[in-house]
Amino acid sequence: MGSRESVRLRPTLGAGGIKCWRILAVIAFAIALVATHWPRLVFGPEAPSDKLLHALTFGVLTFLLWRTRWIRSGLIVGIAMIAYSAFDEATQMLPWVHRHTSIDDWIADLVGVVCATLLIVRPSRPKSAVARMRCDLDDAADREMFGRPFTWAALAVAAALGVLVGVPATVAISTTLLLDQRPWHTAFLGGMFFCAVGIAWSWRSAIRAAVGRLTRAHACFGCGATIESGGGDSEGSCASCATKWRFAQWVRPAVVDDRGTEVCRRASIVGALRGGTIALVTLGGVGVLVVLMSRYRASTGDLRLPTPDMRDLFSYAFAVAAVAIVVRSILAANFRVRELEGVQCVACAHDLRGIATTRSVGICPECGREFARVGS
Ligand SMILES: [Zn+2]
Ligand SMILES: [Zn+2]
Repeated sequence: MGSRESVRLRPTLGAGGIKCWRILAVIAFAIALVATHWPRLVFGPEAPSDKLLHALTFGVLTFLLWRTRWIRSGLIVGIAMIAYSAFDEATQMLPWVHRHTSIDDWIADLVGVVCATLLIVRPSRPKSAVARMRCDLDDAADREMFGRPFTWAALAVAAALGVLVGVPATVAISTTLLLDQRPWHTAFLGGMFFCAVGIAWSWRSAIRAAVGRLTRAHACFGCGATIESGGGDSEGSCASCATKWRFAQWVRPAVVDDRGTEVCRRASIVGALRGGTIALVTLGGVGVLVVLMSRYRASTGDLRLPTPDMRDLFSYAFAVAAVAIVVRSILAANFRVRELEGVQCVACAHDLRGIATTRSVGICPECGREFARVGS
């Protein structure tokens, strides 16, 4: 507790961060709306496919809409974006907009929305009180870190570095090893991939740091104010915003730490294997269906086979969806372990039933880690 004074928190837990996302989202939607209704933009033959840009744009818009927190449920965000993409494509039919509605463009939009929704929707709702408390900590950490200009700068630098490293690396590999004919296309994909990796990595470290700050500062999850809980109460309400707090919420969950998380590691491996199998079976099934359908169309003389653009889009979408399914399975497996906190040690799987707690916090006799046990 000695370090409590040295921790500086944003006074209004991330309200600034939410505002930044909202401004970003409004700008992005406005730009996308103008770009999709502008009289045909013409790219050179080397340009990354227009379908890929469609999917990417709608994927990013879905993500931004989710971050604004105007809509709470990730699933509703996905449904709203499907409706918006239909509106966007349908209004291109209007006579004074010199564009035309294309079903392929709309399919590309949908692919982007579905991939983004797979990535953002939480795999399961927390059931136990302790798991819900942990989710509240994650959400508070997320708001806290985005209230800091440093987070925004770090994410921007990570994204830029990803592009700077990814573009030359993929072009070099693809032109020398694969004798690639479309270097611009490859550069675009490589840049996007490494940019996403850079953002994910810095986001993860920022969340860990924010969890550390919130738990050390004994911060209210609603407003970020430090709560003096010296009275020995195990729960109460924040004096400034009335958000309920539990003393146990400031125990840093073992999941956050890298050392000794054997149970989580085992759960992650099991989750990855399960996710890999699900991805292989579902996406493989969809792939076989697509091939059979195009064979059938070719045999009946209906030669509207998917264009090369669309085939490219589908293969990338399959790759993104496979990654999303595996990540979701790993998360779900870890969430299941989290549901057991207080019953089974998250770090060493020791049975904790019968171990006494003070203010809902106990210590694992096997590995010495703190655990939280809260009822309902
Ligand atoms: Zn508060
Ligand atoms: Zn233990």
